[in-house]
Amino acid sequence: MLLTKEEIDEVLESIWCGKEIGSVKRADLLKIENPKVTEEVIDGLIDDDFIFEVRDEINLTQKGEEIARKLIRAHRLAERLFTDVMEIEDAPMEETACSLEHCLSHEALDAICTLLGHPRECPHGRHIPPGACCKRAEQNIQPVIMPLNRLKSGETGRIVYVSTKHHSRLDRLTDLGITPGEMVKVHQTYPAFVLKVGETDLAIDPEVLDDVYVRKNGKS
Ligand SMILES: [Zn+2]
Ligand SMILES: [Zn+2]
Ligand SMILES: [Zn+2]
Repeated sequence: MLLTKEEIDEVLESIWCGKEIGSVKRADLLKIENPKVTEEVIDGLIDDDFIFEVRDEINLTQKGEEIARKLIRAHRLAERLFTDVMEIEDAPMEETACSLEHCLSHEALDAICTLLGHPRECPHGRHIPPGACCKRAEQNIQPVIMPLNRLKSGETGRIVYVSTKHHSRLDRLTDLGITPGEMVKVHQTYPAFVLKVGETDLAIDPEVLDDVYVRKNGKS
């Protein structure tokens, strides 16, 4: 092979970036200076199944795309890390992101991604390919509005609506001050369900609260 593994990485990364904004032609690759891409290099990448060419357009093979996706993810997560957490200036950031991306494992990337709250874009506004951690996080996102008895101890919410067909139950809830718009805070859930509604502390049968829907954290 004419290029080192890291140089191949850089070429695959360039192709990925080129494809984000359009198509990549053989002539575009030949313009890459670092590493120096020649006709021979391109043919070598084709022989090694990193890329393929249809007419004069260059595409990543599945193998090439997997490598590039991980590199791009690493590069852009590193950018976020440097900008948001470490506040490193732009020029050295690019260099460091580019040297880090080759040595970070999927596990390390997912840890950084989780630390940063699964960002979707790099500081330049370019898409960060999601990892396994992002998909897990999406599944774990709680529904915004939920029955009041699903709040845990210490959690707060704002009552959005009360849906009960039993008038007596609705009247009782209203008497207790459990009405739409009220803020609630759960003090404990066991052995008794104790919550604060407005300024009043109440111990209540949690089953009754099945009909009371809150927006968690009280954001309206
Ligand atoms: Zn890079
Ligand atoms: Zn960026
Ligand atoms: Zn993630």
